[in-house]
Amino acid sequence: MRPDGGRATDTDASADARALVAWVRFLEGAGVDLVLGDAPRPWDAPSLARAPATPGVTPVRARAAPPASPPAEQRALLEPQPVTDARRLAAAATDMTALIEALGRFEGCPLARTAMNLCVGDGDPTSPFMLIGEAPGAEEDRQGKPFVGPSGKLLDRMLDAAGRPRPSTWITNTIYWRPPGNRTPTAQELAMCLPFLERQIELVRPKVILFVGGIAVRALLNMQEGVTRLRGRKLRYRMADGHEIPATVMFHPAYLLRRPPMKGLAWRDLLTATAMLESA
Ligand code: URA
Repeated sequence: MRPDGGRATDTDASADARALVAWVRFLEGAGVDLVLGDAPRPWDAPSLARAPATPGVTPVRARAAPPASPPAEQRALLEPQPVTDARRLAAAATDMTALIEALGRFEGCPLARTAMNLCVGDGDPTSPFMLIGEAPGAEEDRQGKPFVGPSGKLLDRMLDAAGRPRPSTWITNTIYWRPPGNRTPTAQELAMCLPFLERQIELVRPKVILFVGGIAVRALLNMQEGVTRLRGRKLRYRMADGHEIPATVMFHPAYLLRRPPMKGLAWRDLLTATAMLESA
């Protein structure tokens, strides 16, 4: 029976099915490609993001309490509050486990509300070779690990062939939660994740950094040129204590999957990075 007391007919059922298909098409068109739960959630609901299942790291749920107020002299810098909070949390982390826990407590980034999992790093956090990509995609969000989707599989094959397999490197991203629909992260999201990336570099203190794609170069070196112009160049990342780390950049593997003829150039760039490592 229908709610209005009439009998449900085949026509009603097919109208319902058509409405459902139209609704799913609408969601797909709006960029929804992942179901987080049975019920819809408001955009400002508490975060669903969990810390990844990294051995030795306790998963952390987002805190309900607001972050503490920063000191007045920091407020005077007119830095947005989430960036100040990120700096404070990142600076207090004395090892990678603590840094991942700090990211799990950080409430400033709206991406944490739509992501399934926090996705920080993978590999060896004491490695001399650090790779920095852009942001987690759908598979990374599901597993809470960077570069485990199609582009990660290509990256793994390249690293294996170059004699630097994933477990011997530290792989991370510029952004730690998946942007909805894999959109490009905003300047604000980059700014509030940057203190955590800078702290990761301080903790790993790698001998060489390989930027995977242009976003990390923009965030860390403030260089606006694209990878096509920057690749092949020997760059340097200067840490807060003045120590400089040699760095270079290669095309992002997601780009290589779309443009296979570029693989040769990326391979050359990866070999440049591993040669830098040998001479560092
Ligand atoms: N692309 C990235 O830049 N990072 C990932 O972790 C996955 C895809």
